[in-house]
Amino acid sequence: MKLKVLGSSSDGNGYILEGERDALFLEAGVSFRTARQRVDLDKVRGLLVTHQHTDHSKYIKDYANGGFPCVAPAEVWEARAAFTANSYNTPAPFGSFDLGDFNVMVIPAHHDVPTVGYIISHPELGRLLFLTDSRVMATEEGSPLVINGINHVMIECNYSFEHLEQAILEGRTQLFQKERIMRTHMEVGTTIDTLLSMNLSTVSEVILLHLSSNNNKEEYCRERVVKSIGKEVYVAQPGLEVELITIR
Ligand SMILES: [Zn+2]
Ligand SMILES: [Zn+2]
Repeated sequence: MKLKVLGSSSDGNGYILEGERDALFLEAGVSFRTARQRVDLDKVRGLLVTHQHTDHSKYIKDYANGGFPCVAPAEVWEARAAFTANSYNTPAPFGSFDLGDFNVMVIPAHHDVPTVGYIISHPELGRLLFLTDSRVMATEEGSPLVINGINHVMIECNYSFEHLEQAILEGRTQLFQKERIMRTHMEVGTTIDTLLSMNLSTVSEVILLHLSSNNNKEEYCRERVVKSIGKEVYVAQPGLEVELITIR
């Protein structure tokens, strides 16, 4: 199965998983008009959205009119006034559902609005962890969430302490924004700790998501993660395509 990145930043998030017969959209922060050009629409089994912020949900109504089921937390449908016959609420954490041959399990995320992560399974893919806009990977109560048997990881790596401090000193990030960033997004050290908490023996590659252009540096971040986990690591950006090969 192939991952196609449409966007992965506060400018708009969107991804496509495309296999032989089935495909799935992740996030609706890139226009449906753009997204539909990158995939055979007949294969699309659905859309998953994590939360209501515009960089993840702005175009959800256009997707929901696309004729496939769209799953998002209830607050997203309210915020975007986008209820259609294809709109479904995300179940509570650890609930699961099927979209064609995709099976999806919901995991909690820790952001400043109701947000979820997803574990996506498919015969051609194995299991993929998708977690963005979350300070940590943890249960709703805040204890560490241990997830094993994962073959592919798409995880946020929003900022580094070092680059955040530098951006504040240089006036590119305002001091008042610091507290919110630290409370709502994942720091590279947390991304690494999260990866190391998992059994990485089945993981083929890690795709780092949603890097801040002000508060992070792509090469720095990628190198730190590579050094820590010794796996193939990509930084998601528009146009990136990764063939997801599953180690069984
Ligand atoms: Zn975001
Ligand atoms: Zn957000």
